[in-house]
Amino acid sequence: PKAEILVIGGGYGGATAAKYLRLLSNNTARVTLIEPNTAFVSCPMSNLVVGGSKTMADITSPYDGLSKRHGIKIIQDSVTNIDADKKTVKLTSGKTLRYDKVVVSPGVSLMMNSIEGLAQANKDGVTLQAWKAGPETAALHNQIAAMRDGGTFVISIPEAPYRCPPGPYERACQVANYLKQHKAKSKVLILDANQDVTSKGALFKKVWAEQYPGIIEYLPKHNVVGVDAKTRTVKLEVQDDIKGDVLNLLPAMSAGDIAVKTGLANSNGRWVNVNFLNFESTARKDIHVLGDSIQVAPAMPKSGHMANQHAKVAAAAIIAELSAWEINPAPVLTNTCYSFVNERDVVHVASVHQYNAAEKTFKPVPGSGGLSPAPSVLEGIYAWGWARNIWADSLA
Ligand code: FAD
Repeated sequence: PKAEILVIGGGYGGATAAKYLRLLSNNTARVTLIEPNTAFVSCPMSNLVVGGSKTMADITSPYDGLSKRHGIKIIQDSVTNIDADKKTVKLTSGKTLRYDKVVVSPGVSLMMNSIEGLAQANKDGVTLQAWKAGPETAALHNQIAAMRDGGTFVISIPEAPYRCPPGPYERACQVANYLKQHKAKSKVLILDANQDVTSKGALFKKVWAEQYPGIIEYLPKHNVVGVDAKTRTVKLEVQDDIKGDVLNLLPAMSAGDIAVKTGLANSNGRWVNVNFLNFESTARKDIHVLGDSIQVAPAMPKSGHMANQHAKVAAAAIIAELSAWEINPAPVLTNTCYSFVNERDVVHVASVHQYNAAEKTFKPVPGSGGLSPAPSVLEGIYAWGWARNIWADSLA
């Protein structure tokens, strides 16, 4: 097809889409990827950097495979506006690009206003989230390394849905693992707005009891509503205030800013409803949205693995449409999320999601997927295999 295809965001969804749009069109589609960062920094595995057992280099990959090997034009910039009527996007540089199809995979936006005082605490350099991998990932590790022995690391979790259901619990393990070795009098306090651990609950709780007794304390139904940066005090909706030393407060999340701004977030103003056969927004034609920004189907996590799968379904549908091929898609998506409970031992959760034509959604396949019986070193090897494979699949 001679069409002009733009991809906004070179993360798990966007990078995969850009590559598969080229592959599936036999390298004929004109694909331009717009991404502000010079390299891909992975959120999966980033908790190991927070815990100090891996470095930023271990989670960073170059983008040049997409340009050199696959002929994708990469523009290092951000999109500030999508005009769905004129079919153009505007960049920070002031440049305007025309499109026939645009793929939008901007990840999540952190709703800083959902915790009073959080935006200011961030500005003051007291808090940071490190929920988008990059400089904050290393900065959070530095905060933990600088914390006094006997201090408390507080992580708060917003009500689901949020990016990466098991991510905060994995992070708690990584921080506890570091503290156990370097500052054994310190504690990790998990303040969870949810009723219970939202992913791999029994596995995490067993690990906390066996590997981190007296270090990790888990408090469900603790919804953080405010923070006082000066006194490092966390305010809860119901319970008394809690003081900490390092405060890693994760606010509620929504679709990435550009999706919200374009009027695509038609699910409670937070997430983008899509047609699951091609991931086209139900709000605007020819805008396809992937990854964390979408209103997911039941039991579908907001994960990198899922974003990669969305991208392949969308890329196939877009190339088929532009080529006037008749296809009758019946997509089946898989997901696996590995969590490191220390620097070596890992647990996983897996699921399979099949498109259900009658209900126009994905449904978990009965009897598919499952959980690890217990953490193991072998799963740690699988986890690195998963990471290297998905990085190669989306970038190389
Ligand atoms: P992203 O990968 O975040 O990509 C979005 C991209 O869009 C970014 O590169 C951003 O710079 C760019 N962008 C945003 N706005 C614009 C704009 N206006 N113009 C141009 N570019 C823009 N998932 C797993 O599958 N397995 C795991 O083990 C796992 N662990 C995780 C651990 C942590 C600590 C965290 C935070 C997440 C983890 N995840 C994991 C979740 C995973 O990172 C996300 O689900 C995934 O990144 C979603 O892909 P995406 O394409 O939607 O967003």
